[in-house]
Amino acid sequence: MDFELSEEQRAIRDLARTFAREELIPRCAEFDRLPDGEDAFPWELIERGSKLGFNALAVPAKYGGTGADVLTQCLVMEELSAGEPAVSKVYSHNWKALFGLIAIASEEQVMRVVPDFLVDPCYCLGIAMTEPNSGSDNSLPFSQNPASGPMLSAKRQGDGYILNGMKQFIAMGAQAKMFTVFARTDTSVPWTEGTTGFVLLPPKDGFEVGRLHDKVGLRLYPQFDLIFNNVQIPEADRLGEEGTVHASRRNITNIGTVEATSTALGIARRTYEIALEYARNRVQGGRPIIEHNLIGMLLLEMFTRLEAARTLLWRSACSIDNGGNDDPKLARATKVMAVEALNYITTRAVEIWGGMGVMKEAPVEKLYRDAIQLYHMGATNQVNILKAFPNL
Ligand SMILES: Cc1cc2nc3c(=O)[nH]c(=O)nc-3n(C[C@H](O)[C@H](O)[C@H](O)COP(=O)(O)OP(=O)(O)OC[C@H]3O[C@@H](n4cnc5c(N)ncnc54)[C@H](O)[C@@H]3O)c2cc1C
Repeated sequence: MDFELSEEQRAIRDLARTFAREELIPRCAEFDRLPDGEDAFPWELIERGSKLGFNALAVPAKYGGTGADVLTQCLVMEELSAGEPAVSKVYSHNWKALFGLIAIASEEQVMRVVPDFLVDPCYCLGIAMTEPNSGSDNSLPFSQNPASGPMLSAKRQGDGYILNGMKQFIAMGAQAKMFTVFARTDTSVPWTEGTTGFVLLPPKDGFEVGRLHDKVGLRLYPQFDLIFNNVQIPEADRLGEEGTVHASRRNITNIGTVEATSTALGIARRTYEIALEYARNRVQGGRPIIEHNLIGMLLLEMFTRLEAARTLLWRSACSIDNGGNDDPKLARATKVMAVEALNYITTRAVEIWGGMGVMKEAPVEKLYRDAIQLYHMGATNQVNILKAFPNL
């Protein structure tokens, strides 16, 4: 495999790196400390990054976007996540949501969203799947129990549907201008056959954004409850035929997996760099702590896991770019490995920073809080392992 990046890839990666260093790193720790998550949403930074081309990066060229391949998306995400993972998540969540929409929507439905997305630097998209009683079940298609899976109900009425119920942990629930909503049109069959996708463009009568969840990390990337109380959706906003959404999405979910892995990689790299710098400067026993073998070995182990995660991620991205998106094993195994590497690296960084590592003024404290979010995003490790198994 050729690990050489093209000139275009290096240029966009360097642009993202400069934006992260100059605009994200100096400001985001301050936003992270704001008590009210809603006030902390970094609109200004999102707008500035969009103007540099990050929001439109993954929009296919045929719709007027940059049409970057998955490897290029991963390069940009690593850089932006090394600056502020919550800001990079806003962009990459949009790329993932748009990719998912394009896979299941008609041209007419796509064209109701993409032109506005391209001209509005703050356009955010939402994916409304998780509910209080259905999280991992929504990612595990082998559950044949009709009581599993999404229960937000979509009942036919006239030439449309009435939606009732709620969603939970929905990223950018208050900011999104368009949602893909997964609702149950048939509860007598397993969710994989009885769930239908809908487009929702708020505001809508009966649709309400509920509470903002108060997370310990990634605080600038907010999750909300969504409440549906007799929300009318016209048939024109149904995505594909009733009950087909699972079948039409099953081969595209590796994108969400590499997206979460790139976020993990960026946080891990920044943490490693900070720990390395600290170990070179902190003197104990008359010399920099990096010269104490036990600390040097920790740093080498961190470096090895970081490089291994990047290598696997690039392989996963290239395999998607080369048409291998229907094989979940590589992408899912990579995410499991990268999330474990990330949490190893952030924990060791806190250790290397000594007592200062757990003080709120230390940068590793925030990275440690951000890192644990990755256990739950892009599906949990257990779910990713289960999805990788069948192809072993
Ligand atoms: C920051 C963040 C952003 C999110 N954004 C979105 C979003 O935009 N849209 C959206 O729809 N959702 C979103 N989610 C929700 C996320 O997808 C779920 O939290 C995740 O799928 C896990 O579901 P759960 O929280 O209900 O946990 P559960 O499903 O209750 O899992 C609890 C534990 O049990 C394990 N487990 C569950 N089932 C099995 C099984 N069969 N075998 C073995 N172990 C199992 C899990 O791995 C986990 O360790 C987000 C979550 C977070 C934290």
